[in-house]
Amino acid sequence: MTSDFYKYQAQTTPHPLGMKISHAEGSYIYDSNQKAYLDFVAGVSACSLGHRHPKVIDAIKDQLDKYLHVMVYGEYIQEPAVELAKLLAAHLPKSLEKTYLTNSGAEAIDGALKLARRVTGRSEIIATHHAYHGNTMGALSVMGYEERKQPFRPLIPDVKFITFNNQDDLCHITSKTAAVILETIQGGAGFIEPKDGYLEKVRKQCDAVGALLILDEIQPGIGRTGKLFGFEHYNCTPDILVTGKGLGGGMPIGAFTSSSKYMDLLQDNPKLGHITTFGGHPVIAAAALATLKEITESDLMSQALEKEQLIRQHLKHPLISEIRGRGLMLAAITNSADITNDVILRCQDEGLILFWLLFEPCAIRITPPLTISNDEIIKGCMIITRVLDSISV
Ligand code: PLP
Repeated sequence: MTSDFYKYQAQTTPHPLGMKISHAEGSYIYDSNQKAYLDFVAGVSACSLGHRHPKVIDAIKDQLDKYLHVMVYGEYIQEPAVELAKLLAAHLPKSLEKTYLTNSGAEAIDGALKLARRVTGRSEIIATHHAYHGNTMGALSVMGYEERKQPFRPLIPDVKFITFNNQDDLCHITSKTAAVILETIQGGAGFIEPKDGYLEKVRKQCDAVGALLILDEIQPGIGRTGKLFGFEHYNCTPDILVTGKGLGGGMPIGAFTSSSKYMDLLQDNPKLGHITTFGGHPVIAAAALATLKEITESDLMSQALEKEQLIRQHLKHPLISEIRGRGLMLAAITNSADITNDVILRCQDEGLILFWLLFEPCAIRITPPLTISNDEIIKGCMIITRVLDSISV
């Protein structure tokens, strides 16, 4: 099987981690030798309720017994998708009430960009340096990392870049701008939070010039930062909200949400303004509905903030200069990229899964399932500090 993995399945790095998976349950992934690995990554912030959460599994099984794919997006009335969109609206401000469900986060970003151009009749998009919004041609166009884009150019035109948290750059948002797209907390850049009222000021400038604000909550959204949506921390509501990852409870999903007035523009001029076969798939929507219900009806979000404190308390080491982020979206910044690499690889040997961030080579990703227990957190932190001790001697 290992040789078939390399021979038949396309790889995107020369050295994939290559762990052979047997099964996964709760906070653990098991390899083919039945070795247990404590999961501090949660499928890169996707498995918000851990692995095979019983409520998600039950929802999937119930739906499997009813119907799978029956029609392309949005033509038929399918209860899981309707209920999911309705529950999202119930937890969002009134101006964010209609949702389009997609197959991935990047597709939802593309949908949001298209909607912004359709609403404003303008073409210019403003994104930020070091932003990551996905890898379709549209999402790649707003990625703020030239080295990763260059070979794929030309990308979509009329995209400009500003620096996240730099308020002097806001003058670049003008009456030519269709939309500003930001991650509420920059992910790949190193879990950088907006500071000094940055998001409020972007919001104000967008309002002043008639540009839309798109917030990408694919990573911070759905409870990970201790609130259902990251923007709730920063007193700023977007015109278009993009979610994904943790919304699916381990299933592939993306969504963009806006006002009815804006979303209804996808119906005409041109009609079929964004179409996709599998968006809102009933099994995936059922899993997402169960996930969203569990996160909003339990105390997992308040626990995320307590668990953050537990991690900060137990993850102290001279080789860690800083812990960035909020809730269970945390990054431990070590003193060098070599140390970070060493820790991630050695911790895997020690039965703890960690991972990198895209553009910050010193960052160790700590994004466990929201359901992780306090004991599991302490155990994971002990493994990290033990490995760091072995590096420092
Ligand atoms: N936006 C952010 C902030 C992300 O972290 C990601 C994925 O890592 C995406 C967009 C793209 O989502 P997907 O990989 O589901 O296309």
